[in-house]
Amino acid sequence: MAKKIVILGATGSIGRNAIDVALSHPDEFKVVALVVRSSRDQCEALARELGAKAYCGEDAAVRAVEENDADICLVATVGMSGLKPTMAAIEKGMDVALATKEVMVMAGEFVTRRAREKGVRLLPVDSEHSAIFQCLQGSPRESVERLVLTASGGPFLDEPADLSSVTVEQALNHPRWKMGPKVTIDSSTMMNKGFEILEARWLFDMPVEKIDVVVHPESIVHSLVTFSDGATLAQLSPPDMRVAIQYALTWPGRLASKREQLDLAALGSLTFRTPDPVRFPCLRLVKEACARGGCAAAVLAAADELAVQAFLDGKIKYTDIAATVADCLDLAPEIPCDSLDAVWAATEWVSKRLG
Ligand code: MG
Repeated sequence: MAKKIVILGATGSIGRNAIDVALSHPDEFKVVALVVRSSRDQCEALARELGAKAYCGEDAAVRAVEENDADICLVATVGMSGLKPTMAAIEKGMDVALATKEVMVMAGEFVTRRAREKGVRLLPVDSEHSAIFQCLQGSPRESVERLVLTASGGPFLDEPADLSSVTVEQALNHPRWKMGPKVTIDSSTMMNKGFEILEARWLFDMPVEKIDVVVHPESIVHSLVTFSDGATLAQLSPPDMRVAIQYALTWPGRLASKREQLDLAALGSLTFRTPDPVRFPCLRLVKEACARGGCAAAVLAAADELAVQAFLDGKIKYTDIAATVADCLDLAPEIPCDSLDAVWAATEWVSKRLG
């Protein structure tokens, strides 16, 4: 029986690659419904091609989950909009292949708790978390000592010296991955990596102090796990997001695919270094949000989403993204994070402040 999949965010980079994976294994996967937020024409054309149901518009993602029976829901929408449909999928008992990291940043505690209660699996789609997930297979939980997330470093790893005059076009030019604008800007500021720390924190139940980031511009080593016996395992592959997407869909198995294979001799060398905390203040902001506790991580996610949009719209400078987030973290009231409503209240406070 083919696994039935609902795809939320079907025309984004993850969604398109997931459809490619599904189409190359028609006996294994059947896309039953897909959701596109913006373009109805695109959504309907895609649905016709796949023989799937099309959903478009504001509440489309939640409806698509509620109205379809599927084995897996792939959540690949942009930003905070992923939270409601993720919760809907969990309530319905669907496994969730999660690409939208803001879901974990905002509400990781509630999402993981409810998933446990409902016996639902959260399968990572992000390449780094997929790598960690793959390295963890078969080892006892208590033997895990540290997680190491690799980061490409984005387009501004060393240049330009002054980041304040960076243009939208420059920031959207990621050296390794073709992705949507929000995640591409987040990658350039390394807020994306900060979000990934929080995502790993909840997905793998690891304290933030035991999650490191190392810059690895070649994007071949996708992340690593160090165990208590001194062994470190890594997952390597050429940078192709279909590897991680497919693993989330086939776990615990694997499926053969005609993809470029790793050739270490051809690569010659791989490099690693520590991220520069001055160039990338967003990494510090994430740690600060963790230290503040409560709903600070939701404030962080909401402030970043609005600040990135303001930058894309030409309203603020590139360096104002981190400054805006820092401001919101400083000024936000302490909201205890005891419910999803509290999470939404925190994001509303940010909208009011920045709106
Ligand atoms: Mg990633």
